Amino acid sequence: MSDRAHHAGILWIISAPSGAGKTSLSRALVQETTALRTSVSFTTRAPRPGEIDGQDYHFISAEQFAGMAERGEFLEHALVHGNRYGTGESWVKKQLFSGVDCLLEIDWQGARLVRERLPEHVVSVFILPPSLAVLAERLRGRGQDSDEVIARRLAAAREELLHYDEFDYLVVNEEFQRALEDLRCVVRAEHLRRNRQQHEEHTRLRTLLA
Ligand code: GDP
Ligand code: ADP
Ligand code: 5GP
Repeated sequence: MSDRAHHAGILWIISAPSGAGKTSLSRALVQETTALRTSVSFTTRAPRPGEIDGQDYHFISAEQFAGMAERGEFLEHALVHGNRYGTGESWVKKQLFSGVDCLLEIDWQGARLVRERLPEHVVSVFILPPSLAVLAERLRGRGQDSDEVIARRLAAAREELLHYDEFDYLVVNEEFQRALEDLRCVVRAEHLRRNRQQHEEHTRLRTLLA
């Protein structure tokens, strides 16, 4: 790991099939700490009822999206379920290099691209639903997508699940509090890695070894 990398925050990637619970889990995790912020993605998808522009997503037109992509303003972007999604590059880098952890809720294609671009910074977590039946139930229960959209997302779940082995950690979201606790453990453990602690505990180590 380069000197720059362990002064920087961790770039967390959370992926899962639609409905597995990544948004609920990420939100709960981020609420607990000021040292972790979620990147607000840009998307061409229409807002769901209750979604707020600039908070859930930056909702933009296909033309605006293409312009941003052309100007190289995305860290990654991908076509998911027929809509375009992208992570803004400048905000993420500003957080990371000021030492703040940053969380991306992105699909496996985006995860791959970010891993390639920032290999020293990324820790990735894949959320598994307990079963396909439960996944379908959660998508319906969320009550925000049409039957057609739900069917399309369920059909895509297998494709997303096939990529589980590209991730560092697997968390099963069966019982919500348990899954949240698993995520907390992962975050904690990553911060205890020797190369990070060496930087954080630099003064203590120097005193201990004097
Ligand atoms: P959800 O899956 O129910 O949360 O529905 P969304 O429409 O919010 O997201 C659909 C998919 O797009 C999910 O698989 C997300 O991981 C993915 N996604 C969201 N934002 C981004 C992004 O900035 N980049 C990429 N590559 N994928 C994204
Ligand atoms: P994603 O962002 O992966 O599409 P959401 O976070 O929107 O998933 O979760 C999908 C639905 O499932 C939501 O209605 C959410 O409240 C519910 N949900 C999430 N985790 C659990 C869980 N462990 N048990 C029961 N319901 C859950
Ligand atoms: P903060 O005060 O934490 O720096 O930012 C406030 C909020 O705005 C955060 O929730 C952050 O996600 C969001 N935000 C503002 N501008 C951008 C941007 O350009 N890209 C991303 N990804 N998020 C932004």
